Amino acid sequence: MVTVKHGREPMPKQDPKVRIRNFNEVALGYSKEQAVREAARCLQCKKAFCIEGCPVEIDIPKFIKEIRDSNFSQAIATLKEKNSLPGICGRVCPQEDQCEKTCILAKKERPVAIGALERFAADWERKNDEVVLSEAKNLRDPSPRAQGDTSCQIAVIGSGPAGLTCAADLAKAGYSVTVFESLHLPGGVLFYGIPEFRLPKKIVEEEIASIKDLGAEIKTDMVIGKIFTIEELFSQGFLAVFVGTGAGLPMFLGIEGEWLNRVYSANEFLIRTNLMKSYLFPEYETPLNIGKNVAVIGGGNVAMDSARAALRMGSKVAVLYRRSEEEMPARREEYENAREEGIKFYFLVAPIEILGDKKNWVKGIELIKMKLGSPDSSGRPRPVPIKGSEFSLPFDTVVIAIGQRPNPLVPQSTSGLKTGRIGNIIVNEETGETNVPGLFAGGDIATGAATVISAMGAGKKAARAIDKYCQKR
Ligand code: FAD
Ligand code: SF4
Repeated sequence: MVTVKHGREPMPKQDPKVRIRNFNEVALGYSKEQAVREAARCLQCKKAFCIEGCPVEIDIPKFIKEIRDSNFSQAIATLKEKNSLPGICGRVCPQEDQCEKTCILAKKERPVAIGALERFAADWERKNDEVVLSEAKNLRDPSPRAQGDTSCQIAVIGSGPAGLTCAADLAKAGYSVTVFESLHLPGGVLFYGIPEFRLPKKIVEEEIASIKDLGAEIKTDMVIGKIFTIEELFSQGFLAVFVGTGAGLPMFLGIEGEWLNRVYSANEFLIRTNLMKSYLFPEYETPLNIGKNVAVIGGGNVAMDSARAALRMGSKVAVLYRRSEEEMPARREEYENAREEGIKFYFLVAPIEILGDKKNWVKGIELIKMKLGSPDSSGRPRPVPIKGSEFSLPFDTVVIAIGQRPNPLVPQSTSGLKTGRIGNIIVNEETGETNVPGLFAGGDIATGAATVISAMGAGKKAARAIDKYCQKR
């Protein structure tokens, strides 16, 4: 076995001083030479643990070897066998907690940059106009049930990563798939949540187009639970229904002053920025009322995205988090990017009141210092308030990014559907089956807020189970 003696290739990035003035992508992607060099670091292990770390089971050593051999079109074909959204996953998957965590090199040095290589292959396809889609037709895995039978119709509710993956796999198997999306554009959080500077919308549009090319139809402005119920979809002739409606219900702090002017949920803030394009005002006539001194409450990806979006719209930004730096759930890379860009972090503090002026505009936050106690149900140390440590800081805008719950509309409008403690749909984790025959679910609606790739993994498992279910009918 040949060991390559060079470290991990660094990801080229826009200069922090320049990028805080634009919404262009921060990470620029590997050059061909960098990708080949990075791919040569892979040991091509016989027992490749990295595959086990990937929820959609990409053959990682194979596509990396293909990049190493400069066979880029084969590399993207290998990726697309298992992953319909490689350009997206290469950019936003928390690889450090998944495939890269289990890479054998990680024991001694930095793991192979699997995500950056996946992104490279997807971008290479886009730039070189290679027709991997025609190859995707060869990747079809036709189901005996669906072949030539136009009555095999499946409905997918929600066009986030869970719904799109389920739709793509079922379309590849020959089913007639209709995706119902409540918003005017498909993509879910990929479109309305994650900002342009992390995930350009052109990439999302192109990867969705390749799913449509497989034959899946996407109907937008269709709020299921209002326009049609799940029961009505079954009576319209759909054999099975997959629900991937995500976790878009924002959580609030429940403290005084949350109703003040310029207090936003991160959901509203990011939807207005990304979907309504407020950052392009006046080109888009949808401005966002944001001040010069913004506080973002929370420590996850949503908090980082809100903070970095506010910074790019010209504000000074601070992130307030109730635990310490170590427990922050945000992707490390994004936290480091936020720091490089000049965002200020206050750790071990919790808001107890949002303060307002006489006209009900935000003027600051009253905070209390915290210390870490014994672990809570999440396994992380519980933040405990320190008595008498209250203090206040001046802000004119507050964005609350402390988590989201599953969207309640489908569970509430589907009689007899079993739900869990946070309103999530209860499913068999291996198949996505719910307690209602023919109804499957997966992604954030079943797990609560999680990750793109776990939602995709759930969509994939459900597609397999839906095929089995339909074969018996
Ligand atoms: P969603 O992406 O939420 O999609 C659900 C779709 O269903 C939406 O399009 C919604 O409009 C639609 N819908 C809802 N109700 C209905 C209805 N009644 N009828 C029809 N359609 C409906 N994960 C990562 O892995 N890496 C990251 O860097 C990352 N960053 C994030 C940043 C932000 C700001 C947010 C909010 C999340 C982030 N996540 C990240 C989490 C990740 O995006 C989600 O876990 C993932 O998108 C869940 O996919 P999903 O398909 O289950 O749901
Ligand atoms: Fe390559 Fe690491 Fe996977 Fe081994 S574990 S095949 S070195 S990426």
